[in-house]
Parts: sequence; C-alpha cells; structure tokens
Amino acid sequence: MTGPTRPLLVDWRAGLDYRRDARPCVLCGNLTPLRSHAGEASHKVCAEDWNAKYVGETRFVSDAQPKLRCDDDHA
Ligand SMILES: [Zn+2]
Repeated sequence: MTGPTRPLLVDWRAGLDYRRDARPCVLCGNLTPLRSHAGEASHKVCAEDWNAKYVGETRFVSDAQPKLRCDDDHA
C-alpha cells in the first residue's frame, strides 16, 4: 500500500458549479455549462485531463467531500 493518493478525477456532482449558460471550455474550446471552482468554464473530462498532465496543481479541484462521522447526534 502506498497510502492515499490524490484522485485525478474531479467530482462536480454537487451542482454548485453547474450553470445554465454554456461557455467555451478554457481547455478545448467547446461549449460547456460547467464551471470549475475557480469559475473557469471547463468540461469535467477536460479538467481531469489537465490534472493528469499537471499533477500537483490545484487549478481544478473536486467538490468538498462530506466527512463521515461516527458521532452522529441522534435525537
Ligand atoms: Zn472541454
């Protein structure tokens, strides 16, 4: 085991980056309704491809993952 590695796949399912107006993707130029967390129009797959090329960069990041908690407060 090498420990957890930073996933190359971005997760934009939370919907906060989804806008109705399509804009040219900053990476491939085709229209996309998606926005990165930095506000750049980009396809998810293009962002993932970019991440694969520029490992370590944080231009395109995934949605914050909800942390699993053991101490759920039951009413
Ligand atoms: Zn694209």
